Amino acid sequence: MADSAREKQVLDDVPTGLFVDGRWREAAGGGSFTVRDPATGDALCEVADGGGEDAMAALDAACDAQAGWAATPPRERGEILRRAWELLQERMADLALLMTLEMGKPLDQSRAEVAYAAEFFRWFAEQAVRIDGRWSTNPSGDGRLLTMKQPVGPCLLITPWNFPLAMGTRKVGPAVAAGCTMVLKPAQLTPLSSLALAAVLADAGLPPGVLNVVTGASARTISEPLLADPRLRKLSFTGSTPVGRALMAGASENLLRVSMELGGNAPFLVFDDADIDHAVDQAVIAKMRNMGESCVAANRFHVHEPVADEFTSRLAEKLAAMRVGRGTETGVEVGPLIDDDQRHKVSDLVDDAVRRGAQAVTGGSAVDGPGSFYEPTVLAGVDESAQMYREEIFGPVAPVYRFATEDEALRQANGTDYGLVAYVFTNDLRRALRVAERVEAGMVGLNRGMVSNPAAPFGGVKHSGFGREGGAEGIGEYVATKYVAVDL
Ligand code: NAP
Repeated sequence: MADSAREKQVLDDVPTGLFVDGRWREAAGGGSFTVRDPATGDALCEVADGGGEDAMAALDAACDAQAGWAATPPRERGEILRRAWELLQERMADLALLMTLEMGKPLDQSRAEVAYAAEFFRWFAEQAVRIDGRWSTNPSGDGRLLTMKQPVGPCLLITPWNFPLAMGTRKVGPAVAAGCTMVLKPAQLTPLSSLALAAVLADAGLPPGVLNVVTGASARTISEPLLADPRLRKLSFTGSTPVGRALMAGASENLLRVSMELGGNAPFLVFDDADIDHAVDQAVIAKMRNMGESCVAANRFHVHEPVADEFTSRLAEKLAAMRVGRGTETGVEVGPLIDDDQRHKVSDLVDDAVRRGAQAVTGGSAVDGPGSFYEPTVLAGVDESAQMYREEIFGPVAPVYRFATEDEALRQANGTDYGLVAYVFTNDLRRALRVAERVEAGMVGLNRGMVSNPAAPFGGVKHSGFGREGGAEGIGEYVATKYVAVDL
């Protein structure tokens, strides 16, 4: 099939309604909003514009399904996830194309995201049968302590546009495994992957009402009535720190369990004893995956004085050679940014750094033509007063800062409100462990530019949030501990 015919087919196949109680339906208000291709600005399709009434219908369905779902054998819940993992593999080519169309990332990165997203289902299929409690003797010996883990109840899951599928499965997987029901609200810029995910889970045998998906052009219209409803028991949010803060305030009225996966400002530290070839290769991954639109993207490169020039020029060489274009085209490594607002933000941050003395070793400008493209950019001589020192760039821009000592490196690395991930490159074992201990981050990549792994606890400290997704910890976010005092 010709490429354009395949694109049309994939778009024709994706459901565009709301998924409530196991059925696809229109929004109560009958409206829709347009999803666009960030590579061209063209409309891809119309998706149901859900609002408060739809959100409440979804919560009703989730509440009705909760008791039955909690009582469903863990093995059965796990097997549904396992089937969904298999279906995601089978449908990988179409899901990847859909993701590239709505989000822009190159097709091979979309395929990698589908595989990563699916792994959360395989991982939590295995965890579903490992939810346990304990039985122990009172210290005084006169009674017993029994603890059990129970599903927290109906959850609201809110996801961002940058990883349209994986940010959903990272929440849906543990919720399904733990026996929770859900209302999922995906980002309006990329709702299609979540709608396709709902279809996968329905085909895998997930009962009606367990997962409900409400898309909409006004996020607050959906979230506010849900947060105000005492039947909702948990909010899990992935997105920006300011929105996370506002949602936490909204969640406080009903004292919801809250998990927050928020923004980052990752330092990438390169010491003079590091393997520089390897550090440069990993820097490309840490910076350029997802066009830099990742919460774990390296946001600041801090390089030891003796190797700073070499690291900068080699990184610039690699970035200058990357092919920019529409993600559907073969060989493209850098797609468009998600929209023009994001591109303006990146341009403004670069202009501000240049005004404060930075020089563009490569790139430094937006790319002309349709679509929100920005050149892969390396900036040298960036001053710590630059706005991009403190803010998430969320684009293909690598600023290089210099340090003279390990203490200075740590001062720079920790000089941010965020604390999601830090990357450390050194061949000195003692230094590696010392720095890993002292750096303020929820995750550390030691001689690695990528940390994401469904088997590991993903999450941050400081303004990057709290709670962990993935790993043995991930399911803990969706269960409550009950203690029973036993008199024998
Ligand atoms: P965002 O603007 O905070 O939006 C995230 C989600 O929240 C979207 O579904 C959005 O809906 C919704 N939302 C926005 N305002 C809301 C409100 N007032 N009430 C309720 N919901 C609201 O973030 P984004 O631009 O999509 O994503 C980028 C951010 O996510 C970056 O800061 C990135 O670092 C962070 N992120 C963090 C992680 C992590 O694991 N820590 C992972 C990925 C991304 P609409 O789309 O309708 O606005």
